[in-house]
Amino acid sequence: MRWLCALLLVWLALPVLADDRARSALATVDLAESSLMAEGRDRGRPRPMELRLTISQPVPYRVYFLDGPPRLVVDFREIDFSGADADALPGRELVPALRWGRFRPGWSRLVMELPGPYALRLAVQSPAEGGAQGALVKLRIEPVDQKDFATRGNALSALWDLPSPAAVAPLPPRRAGARPLRVALDPGHGGHDPGAQVGAISEAALMLGFARELTEILTRAGFEVVATRKDDSFIPLERRMTIARAAQADLFISLHADALPAGEAAGLSIYVWNQQADDRATRELAMRHDRADLLAGLDLSGTDDQLADVLMDLARTETHPRSEAFAKFAVSELNRAGIAMHRRPVRGAAFSVLKSPDIPSVLVELGFMTDPGDRANLFDPDWRARTAQALAQAIGHWAQDDAARAALLRK
Ligand SMILES: [Zn+2]
Repeated sequence: MRWLCALLLVWLALPVLADDRARSALATVDLAESSLMAEGRDRGRPRPMELRLTISQPVPYRVYFLDGPPRLVVDFREIDFSGADADALPGRELVPALRWGRFRPGWSRLVMELPGPYALRLAVQSPAEGGAQGALVKLRIEPVDQKDFATRGNALSALWDLPSPAAVAPLPPRRAGARPLRVALDPGHGGHDPGAQVGAISEAALMLGFARELTEILTRAGFEVVATRKDDSFIPLERRMTIARAAQADLFISLHADALPAGEAAGLSIYVWNQQADDRATRELAMRHDRADLLAGLDLSGTDDQLADVLMDLARTETHPRSEAFAKFAVSELNRAGIAMHRRPVRGAAFSVLKSPDIPSVLVELGFMTDPGDRANLFDPDWRARTAQALAQAIGHWAQDDAARAALLRK
């Protein structure tokens, strides 16, 4: 799901990375600190190559290949290439052609024709080396057989669901006190993906119902609610995050009640994003969450659309503690309401839907439909009402705390 990250980067404001002056100016290339290098001796066959671009500040980018002729394409948001002659890049003669420039508003593109089919082996953006200012984008590509040459076709591009970058207003860094807190509720699954199922009842239907009940309570408490789905339709995971972002949601809550083999899971749990901390049960859950997208053909993990995870992590350094803070408030309110939770109520997991780098996000497993006790709770309107009420309380407390912290940060 790497392409998902690429999608998200499009909206990234990266206040941690640059001061105001630098942010207003586009990144530029430092040709003297950039190069194209080939490995091994020239035997007239394609060799592994490394493209190193030193730029004045880190930028989101994505990488892919096109064929006819084979070429590497890198889209940056955004580099001002106007002062840099592509033919002057050291090592330029290693490839048939190299072009770069403005591609459309908000985007610059680098196109490097290749001496044959290649695959991307490494794509990183790190602080510039050797005392240079800014960032170093390093792309390593290796020759592959034609049959292993993974290009991105137009069909896939169409699935990107991207508004044109020019139309994307920058997000306010934090909610201005003027408007009510906006919560994105994301009832898991839907459409051809029913989620967990017990008898005639599906997780998808159950979560839609719970989201409606929670919406009611939140709206009465003065919050605004956006739903990622309002009926039994299939919404890809990345679209769910897009909906939250387009609505400028302040908090994203995904609602699930999955199935796991008996004994593996019982009690409400809250998940926050963590790439590493997956135990076996969590990995299985992550797979279940992503499975519908895979079936719908949205899995691009095998392609070469990679990007700077570094940037995502940087952006999350601010958001992640806010997600965790919400999880803590939720646990304390649920405890107070007497809702039984998993023995470790807050856990980390690499659930795709939690990947938003700029919106605090949690996934609530209200219970596991495979557990008889949880199932009874899920079907009990009183339990649901108490849970929804506790979550609403938690949102209120978190919002206050979050605003206070933001005010501190501004000082
Ligand atoms: Zn689920």
